[in-house]
Formats: sequence, C-alpha cells, structure tokens
Amino acid sequence: MSLAPEQFTARLLEWFAVHGRHNLPWQQNPTPYRVWVSEVMLQQTQVATVMPYYERFMARFPDVGSLAAAPLDEVLHLWTGLGYYARARNLRACAQVLVAHHGGEFPHSVEAVTELPGIGRSTAGAILALSRGVRQPILDGNVKRVLARVFGIEGDPASAAVMATLWAQSEACTPTLNVGAYTQAIMDLGATVCSRSNPACTVCPMSEGCVAALKGRQAELPGKKQKRLRGSREATLLIAETGSNGSVAVLVERRPPSGLWGGLWSPPQFESEFAALDWCRREVGEPANRYEKLAPIHHAFTHFDLRLNPLVVKCKPHEEVREGDDRLWYRLGDPPRVGLPQPIMKLFERLRGS
Ligand code: SF4
Repeated sequence: MSLAPEQFTARLLEWFAVHGRHNLPWQQNPTPYRVWVSEVMLQQTQVATVMPYYERFMARFPDVGSLAAAPLDEVLHLWTGLGYYARARNLRACAQVLVAHHGGEFPHSVEAVTELPGIGRSTAGAILALSRGVRQPILDGNVKRVLARVFGIEGDPASAAVMATLWAQSEACTPTLNVGAYTQAIMDLGATVCSRSNPACTVCPMSEGCVAALKGRQAELPGKKQKRLRGSREATLLIAETGSNGSVAVLVERRPPSGLWGGLWSPPQFESEFAALDWCRREVGEPANRYEKLAPIHHAFTHFDLRLNPLVVKCKPHEEVREGDDRLWYRLGDPPRVGLPQPIMKLFERLRGS
C-alpha cells in the first residue's frame, strides 16, 4: 500500500530531526535574502561547492541594498567558477527591482515573489517557507525525484501534465506547521538518501510504502525526459598578448549582456583563424609572424558543446587601442576584478604558469 501524504510528511519530519542538515550557512539567520541567494546558487550546483562561494558573496553583499548597488563586474567576479552566469545577473537585477519597488524587502505573497526576475514558483515557495514559515509547496529536482518514486508518479517530469500531478502531490504533502523544517527535509532526503543513481532505500524512512522501492523501479522513476538533440559549435579564440615575462596582458572584451556568457569578459571569438588575425591586425596591432595554437577548450552548455581553439598572437598594440567599458588588457600577473567564464579563467591560469 502506498503512503498517504500525512504519513509521508510525518516520517520525513521524524527523519529530519535526527538525520537532516541543520548547520548549513544559509540556515543561520534565514532571512528571505539569505535563503534566496542560497537557493539560486544551489540550482545547478552541489552544497559543498556552493558553501565557500556563499560565504564570500554574503561577506561582500550582506543585504539586498549592497547587491543592488554593486557593479555587475563585481557580482560576476564573485560568481566566477559557479557557472550559469545568468543566475548572477538575475540576482543583481532582482535586487534592483526589490530596492526600486519593494523598499528593499521581499514581498509576502508567492505571486509577487514569482514575478521578480529569475525567481520561479519553486524558488519563491522555498524562500517564503524557509525564511518566514509560510505554507508553500516546492518542486525542485530533488523533490520531483522523491515524490515520483514514493508515490509512483509516471511519465516525463518535464511535461505539463506530469508537472501538474507533481505540484498537486507536493501541495498535499506540505504541512501547515513546521513548514520550514519540512521544506529543508524533503530537499535533504532527495540530496542525501534518494539520490538519482544510488538511492539508499535501506536507510530511507519511506522504504515501507515507497512505490519505487516496493516494485524495484528506482531506476525507472521519475520517467525519462524526452531527449533533445545536442548541437555543437566551434570558434577561434584570439589571445592577443602584449608585454613579456611578468607583465603579459591579454585583450579581453565584455560580452553582450544577454546570451552566452553574457556580461562576462573573454578574449574575442571568430569563425576562423583568418578572421581572428585580420581583426587583430585592424583593431589591435600587427601580429608577430609566429603564433601558437593551444589545445582546444571543450565546454558543455545545456544544449550544445562548444569547442574553442585558442590562438596566441603576440602583438604590439596600436597607439589608439584604449581600454574602456567594453575592452581591457587583462594583466595576467595582476588580474582585474571582473567576471570570467570558467574555461577562460582556467586558460589564463595555464598562460600564467607557462
Ligand atoms: S525508499 Fe528508496 S526510492 Fe523510495 S524514497 Fe527512499 S531512497 Fe527513494
């Protein structure tokens, strides 16, 4: 017999009291702001990776006002390495909306919170439940997995029909009391016990009554997402270098605000080596006759794979190559505080060591 929602919730809360995580940084003084930043960082990233980023972010931006007033470059700089940079841009944009329209405070209704930039229904629910104890269901990846397995919810969890069933189940299980503990508990169970490939059913409080465990269908639930074809892209990355030894600098440009690596700084990309060298000649300076090709950089985005072919070109810049809002010389020995995509950061580390 499968579990009733109330049984599920009672078992989960008992388990959480003993085995849940109670000392995460965002659980201390859980204001809406602190919970929000943690939820956004955790959307695509593991807890252990997030913790040092979270501490640094909070030290620099302790509240909505300081984040809203920060230069985008500084926010992206503190995000460098976490990936999915749209999250950082949206955080700052959202802080600015909170300051401009809500007196720097989070609104109280889930509808108003969901209208803020970058905040979906589940994140809005988590913010209100964890910081204010408001009864709101959540449905992140961990919660979907737990609910689909325990209650035997079949089908592609990304489809509208299955999503509606999962939301209804989440709503039915969310208690009126202890909603903060419940919300943390279901996220913890999904992250630490009911993991994607190795669920620890023998120590799980749901093992008696969980549809997936009873039928041995843990690998089939939740259902598989429809596969989308992955594309691939390739580009030449122009590493225009000037200086020598300890004073090498590489020309970087700020990418357009939206799209791939939006707002981050990167050496410019071109369709071909020819186009890169031609641009270098016109915009930067005559390239030295010899240039060096480094090993390609492979980076997987959600929907495609990117291969960048770095071309290192020594050049003596024209007099008129000025630094500005969208172009600067990135001094490898004395890096400026700007946001870099992770593969570019790694490439610069390699160049620094060479
Ligand atoms: S019994 Fe197994 S499959 Fe079911 S919720 Fe627990 S860990 Fe997941």
